[in-house]
Amino acid sequence: MTTWTPQSWRSLPIQQQPNYQDQHLLHSVEQQLHKYPPLVFAQETRDLFSQLGNVAEGNGFLLQGGDCAESFNDFNAPKIRDTFKVLLQMAVVLTFAGGLPVVKVARMAGQYAKPRSSDLETINGIALPSYRGDIVNSFEFTDAARQPDPNRLTTAYHHSAATLNLLRAFAQGGLADLHQVSKWNLGFVESNPLKDRYQDVAQRVQEALRFMEICGITAQNSPSIRETQLFTSHEALLLNYEEALTRRDSLTGDWYDCSAHMVWIGERTRQLDHAHIEFFRGIHNPVGVKIGPGMQPDELIKLIDALNPNNIPGRLTLITRMGADKLADKLPQLVRRVQQEGRKVVWSSDPMHGNTVKASNDYKTRDFEAILREIRNFFAVHKAEGSHAGGIHLEMTGEHVTECTGGAYGLSEHDLGKRYFTQCDPRLNADQVLELAFLIADTLRL
Ligand code: PEP
Ligand code: MN
Repeated sequence: MTTWTPQSWRSLPIQQQPNYQDQHLLHSVEQQLHKYPPLVFAQETRDLFSQLGNVAEGNGFLLQGGDCAESFNDFNAPKIRDTFKVLLQMAVVLTFAGGLPVVKVARMAGQYAKPRSSDLETINGIALPSYRGDIVNSFEFTDAARQPDPNRLTTAYHHSAATLNLLRAFAQGGLADLHQVSKWNLGFVESNPLKDRYQDVAQRVQEALRFMEICGITAQNSPSIRETQLFTSHEALLLNYEEALTRRDSLTGDWYDCSAHMVWIGERTRQLDHAHIEFFRGIHNPVGVKIGPGMQPDELIKLIDALNPNNIPGRLTLITRMGADKLADKLPQLVRRVQQEGRKVVWSSDPMHGNTVKASNDYKTRDFEAILREIRNFFAVHKAEGSHAGGIHLEMTGEHVTECTGGAYGLSEHDLGKRYFTQCDPRLNADQVLELAFLIADTLRL
């Protein structure tokens, strides 16, 4: 194996990259990003690493979620705040009802690059380059908008920085204070059939806080009551962007990708001898990799050894995304093999990407029932194999959208057109994820 450098991926084959026309501009943007401050600090990243280490050992649960694709146009404080609130709500349900510490990782502040199943999109006989996320090109269906623009790398950096700034302020500035737990409900969740159940959890949290205060544990002497830790993550698809933000930590001398605390490799770019695995093997962040239904046990062990050769718990999260039925069939042999070989990983379930369907009115959607079934099968397989079902990875938003069918409100295909705002894949809304959190908490307790 050759020596790793932040650039060593460049000599290997790579999938899913934009075809930039202006290489000169691209190069100067990359040079500029190299000089920009890191977005996250190595110490925070190590903190997440150790928390995920606990999850790998069975002592915690990873909650990862956010947009499929963040957008430059739809970039505002209420949107960030509402997704933050929903993540907190879910975390409180999972912690309290599920009885495990929850590690919160937002799919935010950098989730701008999208792998696509086809290079071209054809509408009414016109074929244009596919939309690859706002870091690459624009969603608008015109030839000019679909050309990859290197300046978008810089714009993505600034949007990520501003998002992260607000997330940090929310996490540490009082919004996440557990005393506020009953106020995290969003307007449209007010009429949710599960609202009473949520208020019951909120009330019990308040009682626990009162009891702790009597015992001398207060928000003043225990910051974890008034603050939370929310980490960031995205699919590290554009390696020139990731390379530019990869820095050597002055304390340890190790390389960290400072574009986010955790980064993952998608299902389409995890070829063992390709660029993404090469880049990931040298960074010291906790990393994830998506695992589809085609994964074979031998290949999985090779993948684990490429990304976590020293078998350190917390380094690697395997995010399975197989589809509800295929998962029941394919996951047991993978879990069994990883157990037999003694590899330490966090197993997380992405119940979204294997359950995408086209509705009869052509909307791309996912049904709540299929999502829930994949999660239930995921828990059942891990239980049967004596392994820890360690987390969940969701495409979700705090916005009031109608993109996934089903759930307590019984959203139908006809409802999809009402509030369908996603730029890419359909997301669960706050009502649906809250419902999911309760159902997962019930499963965690079993
Ligand atoms: C995604 O997470 O948005 C994604 C594209 O996932 P996958 O790589 O699993 O298809
Ligand atoms: Mn997606």
